[in-house]
Amino acid sequence: MDPIQQNLLRKLPGVDHVLELWDKTQPVEDGVPRAVLVRSIRTTLDRLRTRILAGDELLDEALFSDSQLLHLTEEAVKKAMGFKLKRVINATGVVVHTNLGRSLLPKRVAERVAEISSQYSNLEFDLEKGARGSRYSCVEDILCELSGAEVAIVVNNNAGAVFLSLETLAKGKEVIVSRGELVEIGGSFRIPDVMARSGAKLVEVGTTNRTHLSDYERAIRDETALLLKVHTSNYSMVGFTAEVSLQDLVALGAKYHLPVMKDLGSGNFVDFSKYDLMKEPTVQETIAAGADVVTFSGDKMLGGPQAGIIVGKKDVLARIKQNPINRALRIDKMTLAALEATLHLYRDETQAISSIPTLRMLTLPPTLISKKARRLQNRLKKLGSDRLKTVLIKGSSRVGGGALPLQELPTKCVGVRIEGLSANHIERIMREATPPIIGRIENDLFVMDVRTVQDEELAIIASTFKKIVAEA
Ligand SMILES: *Cc1c(COP(=O)(O)O)cnc(C)c1O
Repeated sequence: MDPIQQNLLRKLPGVDHVLELWDKTQPVEDGVPRAVLVRSIRTTLDRLRTRILAGDELLDEALFSDSQLLHLTEEAVKKAMGFKLKRVINATGVVVHTNLGRSLLPKRVAERVAEISSQYSNLEFDLEKGARGSRYSCVEDILCELSGAEVAIVVNNNAGAVFLSLETLAKGKEVIVSRGELVEIGGSFRIPDVMARSGAKLVEVGTTNRTHLSDYERAIRDETALLLKVHTSNYSMVGFTAEVSLQDLVALGAKYHLPVMKDLGSGNFVDFSKYDLMKEPTVQETIAAGADVVTFSGDKMLGGPQAGIIVGKKDVLARIKQNPINRALRIDKMTLAALEATLHLYRDETQAISSIPTLRMLTLPPTLISKKARRLQNRLKKLGSDRLKTVLIKGSSRVGGGALPLQELPTKCVGVRIEGLSANHIERIMREATPPIIGRIENDLFVMDVRTVQDEELAIIASTFKKIVAEA
């Protein structure tokens, strides 16, 4: 280590020194728990130490001055006292962005959550009978109404729904799946792994690109408990491919008295092909095709809260319902309130498209996107900074959440360049702003796709840039 670094390290004060400084300068009742303060001081000193070790050229003793140390500690305390979970502005153009919370609840739905969760409710109380009721009764009927299924079950998420179904129907038995559908969804959800954990034995049939009905039929034996089809969600096969239709698999299941399950992944009640998107099987079509069990997520293209929904036939679902694991995967009243309110919106498709943010963003007409991009650009121009330059760029948004991987969603982005700041630097400042604004870097520009930016967020983005050009 070079002697300058060594010298700086030696001079870096200890925790006690900063604590003493704090106590001398801050009001006694500062409301900061001692543990938080000590942790914040440690973090501050650790950061300085890291910078010294990295050979930060600009570093000198001035950074350890008492006033500097106090300032840095204050910042660290402020951060530690604030919420870690924050709202952010999604300017990535990925609509169902798993890292950014997937679907946004419609305002009305969020209000229902607040109302139900802040007061007592009839969560498990039958108001007609005056006796204990089912926790899921508020969503069962409407799920059956929308899907045409006989019975519905709701659990924590779709991974849980798939696991619970397999554990119930095929533990210690065999499940036949096409090799083309042994997918990894991301976040460590892999069909073969989930299957192994459920105690079901995976029987792979067909080849990666082609599977025929006869492949399934040949694999059926006494140990077979289930025929499973998995929506390949986040990848797509093109070229010389063949898959067995759900209808054909259902017919095969009937012949051998085997239930057929379809994991839809991102399920929806709306036929997106009516809105210039690619055709995806809807939940009701999947039920109509005769599947015994259909599973899908609540917070992907459905646009509701995180949940795993299972719909299907009475006999098979009765077994799933009785599985004690169902209790371990149960959802709370906030989720139920959100799911019920979201499902109600689907009674009127026009209303669903216009009021469920996920659907609205996916079906946003190009003219409106262009308009929004121009509005953002104008707001940035109005800041009147010579250093800030904007351009409108054509781009492509993504559905996200592992759904419709090939779907092109033409969009307009606003690219920003600020003289004297690299795109990386802008990206970091935006990410650390309040609220954080998440965009991407492209050709040395900070790029924001306005498809996923809400109208009221345009002003926030503009005022954040205003601060940047004023300060940097
Ligand atoms: C996303 C997905 C899952 C997991 O759903 P979660 O709700 O995220 O748990 C399971 N199967 C498929 C096919 C999926 O696309």
